[in-house]
Order: sequence, then C-alpha cells, then structure tokens
Amino acid sequence: MAGLRDEAAAIAAELTELRRSIHADPEIGLELPRTQRKVLDALDPLPVEVSVGQRLSSVTAVLRGGRPGPTVLLRADMDALPLTERSEVSYAARQPGAMHACGHDLHTAMLAGAARLLSARQPDLAGSVVFMFQPGEEGSGGARLMIEEGVLDAAGARPVAAYALHVASGLLPLGLVASRAGTMLAAADTLHVTVHGRGGHGSQPQHAADPIPAACEIVLALQTMVTRQFDVFDPVVVTVGSFHAGTADNVIPDDAQLHATVRSFSPASRTAIRTSALRLVRDIATAHGLTVTADYEDGYPVTVNNDAELAFAEQTVGDVLGAGQFVAAPNPIPGAEDFSYVLNEVPGAYLMLGAVPASADPLTAPFNHSAYAVFDDAALPDGAALYAGLALGRLARGGSRAD
Ligand SMILES: [Zn+2]
Repeated sequence: MAGLRDEAAAIAAELTELRRSIHADPEIGLELPRTQRKVLDALDPLPVEVSVGQRLSSVTAVLRGGRPGPTVLLRADMDALPLTERSEVSYAARQPGAMHACGHDLHTAMLAGAARLLSARQPDLAGSVVFMFQPGEEGSGGARLMIEEGVLDAAGARPVAAYALHVASGLLPLGLVASRAGTMLAAADTLHVTVHGRGGHGSQPQHAADPIPAACEIVLALQTMVTRQFDVFDPVVVTVGSFHAGTADNVIPDDAQLHATVRSFSPASRTAIRTSALRLVRDIATAHGLTVTADYEDGYPVTVNNDAELAFAEQTVGDVLGAGQFVAAPNPIPGAEDFSYVLNEVPGAYLMLGAVPASADPLTAPFNHSAYAVFDDAALPDGAALYAGLALGRLARGGSRAD
C-alpha cells in the first residue's frame, strides 16, 4: 500500500491530460466510441486482457497477477449528461448539449491510472483485477448490460469484492472520502399514470367525465400515502415532476397524464410503495367513475454497501490517503446508481470522493449535474491510488470475506 499515492502523483499530469481530453469531448448513453478509444489507448501498453462490449461501448480489462488468488472488480462509469456546459474551465465541452457534469470523466481517468499502478506490481499481485469501464450509467443501465455480457466472469472466477468511486463537485471537501454501511443510494423507479375521462364543454361538466380533478387528487393522495403508510425511518420520496392535461380553459380534456419519480431506501419499502401507489391511483380514478392506465417502471435498485467491505474500504482510505480522510456519511444519498446491479451480485462498497475545486466553498460550489459544476483535477491521483489500494488490499486478504 505504501507508495501508491506517490506513484499516482508521479502520473498526475497524464491522468489530467486523459481526463481533460474526455471532458472536452463528452458522449452520452451506451455508445461512447471516442471515449472508448481513449481508454483502449491508455490500456494499450499495459499487460491486461482487454475486451469490448457488444451492445454498448464498454471496456473490460483483466490484470492477472503473478501469484494465484481471488478476483476483485473495480468500476468506473464513462458517460456524460445531456446539458450544455456553462463552467469556464479551459477544457470545457467543445459542443453544446453534452457535458461531463457528473465527473465520470474523472472516474475513467482514475481507473486507467489504477490499471497502470497495479500493472507495475503485476508479478507480486496475488489474484486478478477486473477493470470495468462502463457507459450508460445516467439512466441506460450500462452496468446491467455489462453483467449480461459477462463482466463478472471476465477473469474466469467471480470477484470476491467490487468497488466504485464517485466524485462530488460540492459538499464533500477535496480529497475526503464519504460512505456508509448498509444503504448508500436509493432505488429510483418511475410511476406513469394516465387518467382516462371523457372530454366535453367546460360549461357543462355533467355531460363529460373530467379527468383533471381526479388526477390532482392522485397527486395529493400520493403525498398523504407517503406520510401515512411508510416508516419515517425507512423513508420514501415521491415527486410528481410532470403533469399534463388539456388545451383550453373551456374544454374538458379526454385524459390527464402525470409522471412521478419514486425513491426508496430498502427493498421492502420499494416493494410496498409499488403496491400502494398502484392501488391508490386505480381506486381514486374508480371513485370518480374514471379509468386509469398506470405503469410502474423499475429503475435502478437500492445500492447497498456490504458492512465488512465498507469497513475494509474505510481502513484502506486511511492507509492510502491518510488518517482522517474517511467520513462516515450520516444518511444515504437519494440519487440512484446502476452499480447497485453489481452490488446485488458481489459484496462491495461505493465511495464518494470530494473533488470540489480547492478555491471553492464546498457548501456553495455547484453540485453534480449542474451546468456550472467543476471537478478539481487534484482528485485524480487520490482516486487512482484509492482504486489501486482497494484492489491490492483486498487481494492480500485472499478469497474469504473481508471480515
Ligand atoms: Zn454520476
């Protein structure tokens, strides 16, 4: 473990160059051919076995150590978001409409850096490391597709542990790592509702079947459901972010549509809210003599850290980055992550790494997904060293559970 951070600092300039080149040329979704090319070029000089995805432009690299041992998986996501960058960094996105506003460009460079650091120790490495470079984290479920295409079996044996890092451009000061035992991120599902009525003249609602009041009642009743049916210590969040009906003040429309994001923090409450929400929607429509089409679309599952792996990761943060660099996050993050699909198969941990620019106030710096978000390159060597340290330390523990 000793020396990893110095070794990472020695390649900081190259990590910055790779990160900035990805940042300036962001790609969205499952197909990131130019980003994939940059990763392949970075891995090219290394003693790793590389394969690429069929249904997405993923890169999987396997480093086989010189000594026998288990397999550990490290994951970085690579995709950008569909917004126009408004930060004023010199390496800002060259085209409008796409931006690395969630810092996945840093993850990619960090993992490429970790592949270099670990490759330099290949003869002594006791086991294998799988490097998972994943497109389509932002909604496309790239991790699930990579699992379907065999990333968990890339080294021939299932990983005993899997780790992911995620940078933050606000809140978490530069270089600090935050995570928690148990639930780390929410599940994010979507409720789609169409209330079907019968249109007519706004002056004579008795001859029509107005879907708007029933749809409004559904919106409010969903909030009552949250507070009356769910444990305040196992919370859920329902936000109706889209509501559309009608065209004119004097026309009763045929239908009304609403779409809600539904966040939950345990598999049990996730199952419960699906049942409750669908029942509520259907029964309110029925109470008003209307019908409804309701669709509950499963998004990413709850991201749950394994307690023993989290304890190991916390210790590794201390070993690699120094004592006091790990912060126990008091609460889960209500965002969602498709690394959850990996953690549903392999015990592991998901860690946040502060990348707030050194000159900015963490409390006010624009957070991830903002057009103004800026991530400090100074986090790159820390991230690369931490990824490498997690693999190195975990392989040293052998094939058993981390505890
Ligand atoms: Zn992200």
